[in-house]
Amino acid sequence: MEPSPFELPADTVQRIASELRCHPADERVALRLDEEDELRHFREHFYIPKMQDLPPIDLSLVNKDENAIYFMGNSLGLQPKMVKTYLEEELDKWAKMGGYGHEVGKRPWITGDETIVGLMNDIVGANEKEIGLMNGLTVNLHLLLLSFFKPTPKRYKILLEAKAFPSDHYAIESQLQLHGLPIEESMRIIKPREGEETLRIEDILEVIDKEGDSIAVILFSGLHFYTGQLFNIPAITKAGQAKGCFVGFDLAHAVGNVELHLHDWGVDFACWCSYKYLNAGAGGLAGAFIHEKHAYTVKPALVGWFGHELSTRFKMDNKLQLIPGVNGFRISNPPILLVCSLHASLEIFRQATMKALRRKSILLTGYLEYMIKHYYSKDKADTRKPIVSIITPSRIEERGCQLTLTFSAPMTYVFQNLEKRGVVVSIPLASLPGLSVACIVGVNFGFCGLFTAACYFTSISQGG
Ligand SMILES: *Cc1c(COP(=O)(O)O)cnc(C)c1O
Repeated sequence: MEPSPFELPADTVQRIASELRCHPADERVALRLDEEDELRHFREHFYIPKMQDLPPIDLSLVNKDENAIYFMGNSLGLQPKMVKTYLEEELDKWAKMGGYGHEVGKRPWITGDETIVGLMNDIVGANEKEIGLMNGLTVNLHLLLLSFFKPTPKRYKILLEAKAFPSDHYAIESQLQLHGLPIEESMRIIKPREGEETLRIEDILEVIDKEGDSIAVILFSGLHFYTGQLFNIPAITKAGQAKGCFVGFDLAHAVGNVELHLHDWGVDFACWCSYKYLNAGAGGLAGAFIHEKHAYTVKPALVGWFGHELSTRFKMDNKLQLIPGVNGFRISNPPILLVCSLHASLEIFRQATMKALRRKSILLTGYLEYMIKHYYSKDKADTRKPIVSIITPSRIEERGCQLTLTFSAPMTYVFQNLEKRGVVVSIPLASLPGLSVACIVGVNFGFCGLFTAACYFTSISQGG
């Protein structure tokens, strides 16, 4: 029987278990779900680390030739196999023709970023002209804030969520300092309610409603790196703009994870990195979005020659003809080697589509949640049983493919035991107060997620 599009993940798991006449936690359910996974062949497009090559592995506990259980795609995506080919194409061109490579080939270096930007349209939901591929994420955040954050005596605050990613926090702090504004007053941070881990949309909207007149820019993450909470981007955008604020998003953990419609939602600006769910490799080429409604009104504060129209750029007459919109924000010529790795990854997204990826992700994440609840919920009869709690919201609309878990056992113990068995997860560094107890599991990443891997993950500590 075909699953209905409205079937909840837990219901799918139970339906398959009853078809197979086994318990929902039985590995056979996971095997069936992997079999039915329409994206399963996309695993072939990636290098998946082997157990034996992981530094912390204990080879007495695992089969050395097996694939690792990689749940860290939210931190660094795996390598698409075509990266090497595309890099070699450009290295060969460089070797054979030197500077002529600027003009010819599959990716003329001068327009290297532009040759692949169209592959990003569907991932962020924007027109090609609204997207720029340049720099690193935090650099782009700074460049966008320099243009969108124009404080006045009445409207001078930046609104953000609590426990924002440190780089974003520092970027905002330093932008305020640049304008000589007092941090305490100008950096408006929304915290969750007492005893809660995630933010309620009604609380966010209330702050915007009450304080919106003094807020210049709302800068939220699309999906919170620590809690895994997916914010209601259209609702925040609409509420902020109704109060006259600019509304921007850092999509580092949202891009390539959930479906985005930046243009239709009317988001003012956004930026993202490409090495997490977009699998473009460490330090990959980042992205920026400026809505077309601002193309002629919001100008870059800092300008370089790649913001100049291509048709006259090389006249070198020092008369700036600025490209409208985000591409006028490009300062330097594009790093072609970074374009190659991003190209390889974006082609896979184009084939698979975000819609299908999200569909799988909802089921896979729901399956993992089901299994965690099955094995590790509080049990009044057995108080010695380990307990695992999920911080991430359980509503599908409020999360992507990340689950943030807390353990009743000491985290370092859990973490070491996962690592030894080739389960790669990330834990936020202990330097952030209150963050050292959790582990982050990005279960669906770069199309490589497996139901059987989720099943293995939850069964590990069954042995003690
Ligand atoms: C990963 C991440 C960053 C990293 O910034 P870089 O400039 O790419 O080093 C910044 N902000 C958020 C929200 C992130 O998740």
